[in-house]
Amino acid sequence: MSTGSMWAKTRPDVIVVGGGAAGMMAALQAAWAGAQVMLLEKNEKLGKKIYITGKGRCNVTNACDTEDFFRQVPRNSKFLNAAVRQFGHEDVTSLLEMLGTPTKVERGNRVFPVSDKASDVTRAFSRGMRDAGVQVKLDTSVRQILREEDGFAVKLEDGGVLHAKAVVVATGGLSYPSTGSTGDGYAFAKENGHAVTPLTGSLVGLTIDEKWPKLLMGLSLKNVRVSAQMGRKKIYDELGEMLFTHFGVSGPLIIELSSHMPEDFGAVQVSLDMKPGLSGEQVDLRLQREFQENVRKQLSSVLVALMPARMGPVFAGLCGLSPEQPINQITREQRAAIAKNLKALPLRVTGTRPIEEAIVTRGGVEVKEVSPSTMMSKLAPGLFFAGEVLDVDAHTGGFNLQIAFSTGALAGKSAAAYAAEA
Ligand SMILES: Cc1cc2nc3c(=O)[nH]c(=O)nc-3n(C[C@H](O)[C@H](O)[C@H](O)COP(=O)(O)OP(=O)(O)OC[C@H]3O[C@@H](n4cnc5c(N)ncnc54)[C@H](O)[C@@H]3O)c2cc1C
Repeated sequence: MSTGSMWAKTRPDVIVVGGGAAGMMAALQAAWAGAQVMLLEKNEKLGKKIYITGKGRCNVTNACDTEDFFRQVPRNSKFLNAAVRQFGHEDVTSLLEMLGTPTKVERGNRVFPVSDKASDVTRAFSRGMRDAGVQVKLDTSVRQILREEDGFAVKLEDGGVLHAKAVVVATGGLSYPSTGSTGDGYAFAKENGHAVTPLTGSLVGLTIDEKWPKLLMGLSLKNVRVSAQMGRKKIYDELGEMLFTHFGVSGPLIIELSSHMPEDFGAVQVSLDMKPGLSGEQVDLRLQREFQENVRKQLSSVLVALMPARMGPVFAGLCGLSPEQPINQITREQRAAIAKNLKALPLRVTGTRPIEEAIVTRGGVEVKEVSPSTMMSKLAPGLFFAGEVLDVDAHTGGFNLQIAFSTGALAGKSAAAYAAEA
C-alpha cells in the first residue's frame, strides 16, 4: 500500500520535513502549541547526525551569554537575534532535563548530556514528541513541496502526497550526507521562489600549496597562534592547537579559521606563530642564547628545544638550512630567517576539504527572504525554514546545534500559530 493511500485521511496542521535537531525541536514546539503535527524523516531513525556530534557525546549548546553567542556566528548573526533570545541555551538544557536528559557544562561553556551519550538527546526528543502526539514517519523521503490553495502538497518519493496548512523545512545542509543531509531542502526552497546562497564547507580542514605539511602528517602543535590577513584586514587571529595532515592543515584553530575564509583563498595570507608568547625581538634573543650554549653542536639540537623533534628537519629546510648545519657557521641573516619563520611561517591555503567532510554547511536559504521573527518564508506564506538549511553557521562549541534548536523552536511555534489562523 502506498504512503499516500495509507495517510489519505490524515491532514495535519503542520508537516515538518527532516528529523534532525531543528526538525525534532520544531515538531515538538508546534505540537505543544496545539497543532496536529507530522514529522517526516527519510532515514530509518531520527537524528542520525546528532549521534556523531561532539565525538558521540553531543555538545548540545554553549552556556555563554547571548552577546558572546553572536560573536561565534561569522555571518548573518542578526538574523538569529529573535530566535536565540526567545529560545537560548537555558531553554535547551531545561527542555532536555524535563525530557529526562540532564546536562553538564564543561570547559569553554560547552554543554553535554550528563550521560555523555549523544543518543540520549535524540531519545529525549523522541519521548517528548511521542507524548505530545507528533506522528513520526520514518523511511519517508520528501521529493517536492508545492503550494496549493489552502496550504501545501508534500509529495513523497514513494508517490504519496500529504497536505498541510504549514510546512517546516528542516532538512539540514550538505555535510556528512550519509546522515541524510543531502541538500534536498535547497531544491524545496528554490521551487518556492527562494534564492540559495553558494554552498561550501565550513569548520573543515584546509588544503595547502606547500608539500611540507604532508611530511608532518599527524603532528599537532599546541599553544600556537594562527592568523589570517586579507590585504590590510585581519580576518582571524587566535591561539590554540593545530594539526598537520595528508592534505594540509586541520585541528581546532584551522577548523575555526575555515569559517572565516573568503571565497578567494588566494587573497588570504595565513601564518603560523610557533612562539606566540615572545615578541620577534625576544625570539631572536632566545636564539642567540641557544646558539651560544650549543656553539659546538648542530642546528637540530637547538631546534629540538623550540619545537617538536619531528618538525626540526622540515623547519630547517624551510629556512634554507640543513639540520646538520654547525651552529658556529650560521650567519646573522640565517638566524634572522629562523626567527622570522618561528614567528610567521606562511601557509598558502588553496581551498577547503570537500563539503562532505565539513562539520557544517556555509551558505543556504537566503535569510533576507525569511522573516527572522517567525522563520516563515516572505515569498511563500506557510512555508518555514529551520536549522542548517538556512544560510547561518557558527564556530564549534555547541553553537550550531543551538542555531538548529533556536530556529527550530521559533519555526515550530510560528507554524502552529499560522496553521491555527489559516
Ligand atoms: C561530525 C560532526 C560533529 C558535530 N558536532 C557538533 C557539536 O558537538 N555541537 C554542535 O553544536 N554542532 C555540531 N555539529 C553540527 C550540527 O550537527 C548541525 O549543525 C546540526 O545537526 C544541524 O541540524 P539540522 O536539524 O538543521 O540538520 P540535520 O541534523 O542534518 O537533520 C536534517 C534531517 O533531515 C532529513 N532529511 C533530509 N532530506 C529529507 C527529505 N527529503 N525527506 C525527509 N527527510 C529529509 C535528514 O535525513 C536529517 O535527519 C556537528 C556536525 C558534524 C558533521
